[in-house]
Amino acid sequence: MSVKVRFAPSPTGFLHVGNVRTALVNWLFARKHGGHFLLRIDDTDIERSKDEYTTAIREDLGWLGITWDSEEHQSKRFDRYALAAEKLRTQNRLYACYETPEELDIQRKMQASRGLPPIYKRPTEEQNKKYEVEGRKPHYRFLLNDEEVAWDDLIRGKVAMRATTMSDPVLLRADGVPVYTLASVVDDGELNITHVIRGEDHVSNTAVQVQLYKALGYKVPEFAHMALLKTKEGEMSKRLGGNDIRALREAGILPMAVNSLLARIGTSDAVEAFADMKPLTDSFDFKRFGRAPANYDVAELEKLNEKLLHQLPFAAVKDKITFADEQFWLSVRNNIKTLAEVQQWFAIMHENVEASLNHDERAFIRSVVNQLPAEPWSESTYDAWIAAIKPTTQRKGKELFMPLRLALTGRDHGPELKKLLPLLGRKKVVERLSA
Ligand code: GLU
Repeated sequence: MSVKVRFAPSPTGFLHVGNVRTALVNWLFARKHGGHFLLRIDDTDIERSKDEYTTAIREDLGWLGITWDSEEHQSKRFDRYALAAEKLRTQNRLYACYETPEELDIQRKMQASRGLPPIYKRPTEEQNKKYEVEGRKPHYRFLLNDEEVAWDDLIRGKVAMRATTMSDPVLLRADGVPVYTLASVVDDGELNITHVIRGEDHVSNTAVQVQLYKALGYKVPEFAHMALLKTKEGEMSKRLGGNDIRALREAGILPMAVNSLLARIGTSDAVEAFADMKPLTDSFDFKRFGRAPANYDVAELEKLNEKLLHQLPFAAVKDKITFADEQFWLSVRNNIKTLAEVQQWFAIMHENVEASLNHDERAFIRSVVNQLPAEPWSESTYDAWIAAIKPTTQRKGKELFMPLRLALTGRDHGPELKKLLPLLGRKKVVERLSA
């Protein structure tokens, strides 16, 4: 049977690095096995779900290169969930209950005070009658069978849980709206999902859902629960505007920097800067995933971004830096951290620069103007010029080139002067040195 996976975000906010890691791992697994990647929008919560977030989810995935083969919306499948609920009802696996959230809270507190686990206590018939007489509207829970639920997790190995340690989950709200627990199982079952890959915060859902798949007559999929992503909040992530994917994009981070990092953290494979998905797909293996939380570090993302930027051909960036040509890009790309800095270097090359130089430095610079070679200029012009200067000055090393760099760029660091000289051209170089 061929692989089919799903990424199932709730459209209640923008995608952040944690969601994207789940999406990416599903995608890499599907692509590695020639499988199908379904984008499932979990929008049963009508009040909190927004179309603009669904649009943003599509945009962000598209930007990352995480392509989907089909798309489903839970809000369009309510009739399927109603049928499934009906099926459970006829098996006596769905029962009405009436407790308010406050009453459930009191129940849990009493359990805690007696040292008992916070497991939902099924109501007696009399209790339910009393609530009905009061005119309360029921919501519905799934009756768990008292049996062990076990599965071979592709990351965690054998996982086993007894149903007596779990609460019967709510499947239908009082207004009849199905909740995630039910909707997700119906979708996985009816849409033939073969592998459910998600964060380990869903392990207890899985235990419950395995009984649901079986009760509804679906084949139980395979599971892989990833250790959670630990994001460092603070200065670093704020510098890039936070951990939302859109913020990273706006900060000039490249999609493959995000993918390179998120595909490999928390695994035993080294994090490397990859220019495309192929090596990530080829090397993908659940066996490489560890059980410890994966540490997401923005500084690591910036480093990857820099490495990728330095390798990018002009064709990959020319739409984003329309003011520059290929020679310009190749001259500055090794000295930038984000694409935004290309614009800064362009301004330095084209606008007036101010250099703070002392009297001696000025005198030195004026004395070397007439040693500039004649045009045409190339990358070897700088070396020819320096060779001509050397016999006539006492200066060497930094003392020699720093005043030149300052006079030509107004800055004490940047791209190699041998690359900047031909970009500036003889006329501008003469102007800047004689200023
Ligand atoms: N909408 C759920 C979530 O975002 C999906 C979980 C799942 O993959 O089953 O947590």
